[in-house]
Amino acid sequence: MKRNFRSGKRISANKRSISSRTAVFARLKWIAFLSILVLVLFYVNQAVFAPAQKPEKEAQSEVTDFSQWRNDFETILSRFYFPSEWVKGLNRLDKFAASGERELTVRITIPGKFSIHKMIFAILQIARENHLQTVESYEKLLPNFFRLSFTASGGKLLNLQFKTDADAEWYSGKIAVVIDDFGYKKSGSVDRFLRLPFPIAFSVIPGTEYDELVAQKAHDAGFDILIHLPMEALNTKVENRGYTIFTKMSEKQIGEAVAKAKKKIPFAVGLNNHMGSKATADRRTMTRFMKALKKYNLFFLDSETNRKSVAYLLAQKAGIPALKLTTYLDNPQSSKSVAQKLEEVVKNLEKTRTAVVIGHDRNATAKILTEAIPHWAYHGVSFVKLNELLENK
Ligand SMILES: [Zn+2]
Repeated sequence: MKRNFRSGKRISANKRSISSRTAVFARLKWIAFLSILVLVLFYVNQAVFAPAQKPEKEAQSEVTDFSQWRNDFETILSRFYFPSEWVKGLNRLDKFAASGERELTVRITIPGKFSIHKMIFAILQIARENHLQTVESYEKLLPNFFRLSFTASGGKLLNLQFKTDADAEWYSGKIAVVIDDFGYKKSGSVDRFLRLPFPIAFSVIPGTEYDELVAQKAHDAGFDILIHLPMEALNTKVENRGYTIFTKMSEKQIGEAVAKAKKKIPFAVGLNNHMGSKATADRRTMTRFMKALKKYNLFFLDSETNRKSVAYLLAQKAGIPALKLTTYLDNPQSSKSVAQKLEEVVKNLEKTRTAVVIGHDRNATAKILTEAIPHWAYHGVSFVKLNELLENK
């Protein structure tokens, strides 16, 4: 028994050393593979970029600082929505040119989900434009780490050191934010929304007390304006200030209401429905409505107040650029907060790529979005105008 036990132990120890030897071989193979890959990439890179550099030799000797390169590099970072805390050492570049230092390393954190290829291509491009010579590009055979090196005139060496951080959140995708029901208030939440440094759309109800004032202010601040056109609802009485679309209206009456609304909110680039659970589900009314809307250079956003809405489909059928709601951010019936709703949308972007979210002219919504939009923008999400989503279709 004892012997058996011992020999069993020996066998398993032996097995372990065999398996660890196999692991070493596997690792060596992997290292060899990576080295070859890096060499190939290096020579391909030289072959592609080196010839283009030759005629620029004269300019090359004039390069004394890295300010233009830094500008270009920062443009790349902002194009990929990289927060500044992910890039270390860029500030030292200004003094580097005049200093006696020969080498400078800029360290860049790459979020785990981020695919770096496009960024590398852009970086090689600006190196060439700034007459930097790619001297080295290698993976240090450490996981999640690699480096690109460039020389400038005078032999200065600039290293870009990339390190992948799986915990760095990064999302890609586009969200268009629309805020509905503007026109009732002239300040307060309105001013909060006006201060957002992101392109939200202000949807203004024609006929409300401050419709023109808010539309003008938002337009002046560079925001997109939508006409938030009231339409007949199923269970709620819709306010009627002379712009509301009812199912009993004739083609002529609908045409007049749309024309009036367009005149009242002349800056509008699009239109979405305010309420309208009855009208948007009524095929005849929507056919008439789209015919009227077609006369103007406006896109249509279906606020989807009724799942049976035919508005989006009929807009497309009429040849009107159309979008529809992904989700409401501040539905009072929902137990979820605005922040939670937006987070859900962001995490879904991997599947959906784009989203249209609607909130309302409320203080709480304005307050949360003021923090949440920049937060997600710093984690890769692009907040865009609605027409950018139309172009993607
Ligand atoms: Zn509304």
